Amino acid sequence: MKYYSTNKSVEMVSLMEAVTKGLAADNGLFMPERIDAFDRHFFEHIHQMSFQEISFEVARKFFGEDIPEDILKEIVDDAINFDCPVVRVNDSVYSLELFHGPTLAFKDVGGRFMARLLAYFLKGFKREVNVLVATSGDTGSAVANGFFQVPGIKVYVLYPKGLVSDIQEKQFTTLGHNITALEVDGTFDDCQRLVKSAFLDQELNEALVLTSANSINVARFLPQAFYYFNAYARLREQGISGDLVFSVPSGNFGNLTAGLFAKFMGLPVKRFIAANNSNDIVYNYLQTGKYEPRASIATIANAMDVGAPSNFARILELYNHSLSSISMDIVGYRYSDDEIRETMKQVFVEENYMLDPHGAVGYRALKADLKDGEVGVFFETAHPAKFTETVESVIGKGTVKLPAKLAEFMKGEKLSIAMSTDYDDFKQFLLNQ
Ligand SMILES: *Cc1c(COP(=O)(O)O)cnc(C)c1O
Repeated sequence: MKYYSTNKSVEMVSLMEAVTKGLAADNGLFMPERIDAFDRHFFEHIHQMSFQEISFEVARKFFGEDIPEDILKEIVDDAINFDCPVVRVNDSVYSLELFHGPTLAFKDVGGRFMARLLAYFLKGFKREVNVLVATSGDTGSAVANGFFQVPGIKVYVLYPKGLVSDIQEKQFTTLGHNITALEVDGTFDDCQRLVKSAFLDQELNEALVLTSANSINVARFLPQAFYYFNAYARLREQGISGDLVFSVPSGNFGNLTAGLFAKFMGLPVKRFIAANNSNDIVYNYLQTGKYEPRASIATIANAMDVGAPSNFARILELYNHSLSSISMDIVGYRYSDDEIRETMKQVFVEENYMLDPHGAVGYRALKADLKDGEVGVFFETAHPAKFTETVESVIGKGTVKLPAKLAEFMKGEKLSIAMSTDYDDFKQFLLNQ
């Protein structure tokens, strides 16, 4: 399968090139040239298949022409080694718990999948590949853990000093080996600027092979389609039927875009809800047809604090830039920090279900939008313990238990290198590695 750029001013490339480059040479995002649909037979049996088995079938549709079947199976089995259950919260509202992976965030699947796919492509490649990631918290931990000890790849995680939670910081600063954490004396935007400057620096790119691991990369975002098929299967398994609505707490829109791909592959989805925090750029687009990116605003659902959602270009491409077509499949909601807190509290008290701030945005939008006869699934994208301080400030001290996987990280020793916001310092550092 070939991949084209959303900007359409460069030739199509192979999967290997799309994964190793990340972004197309014309700054567009890569899209698969076709989206193959499943036949009826697949959907007749899907509820008898495990999350892993379903994921393999979905992965074959995208990557089957480019990766030998046995290797693709190994990659999927390695990335999908945990459950992703649907849990009823109330009425017809279900939580799809995406936080049972190694770092307890949904980005684990894409992070690990991309690491393994890249490692496969780099076999026999003489040079080391350097993955640069700027993170406000969650991406860094998922990518670092996904790439940990993968041969031939070095990872540099840039994060803003003092602006990530203790748990998040421990998840990428304690690993060592091929993972280097750079503690930048600035903001997330500074981290992102350093990484972008590096990708655009010709001299640096001649000296080093560089790639990115955020959701612009097809190997990171396409595997998120697995979740949607699995949710459908797990509902069917429990004998639950009705028109299916997905509510997706969104920042860069990688997760929601993967859901649109699932729908194009034949998954019966009635509509998607784009659930935003105060960073309501896509919400505003859906109301007015005007797309106006701007600087991000800090909220308590910080993994969604994105002012220029990178996957929006893919959504426009899928629907031929037509607002009316997009509006048939996607509706938008947005909530303030106060509304997020109110929802976390209410669902904990009334339903005895603990939401993290991101999941709370998804839940609230779903509650507001769901109609009779529909079944709603919201994505619970992170374990509440990753945001213990925020969650406990709302529902009470001592309520959040630290899962064993996170407790293990807390025991490790922080290893990080201080970095200024000056690009030349960062460049010299990379050249000296
Ligand atoms: C990354 C992230 C999101 C947003 O996902 P996008 O694919 O960027 O829209 C939501 N919740 C959590 C916990 C995240 O880490």
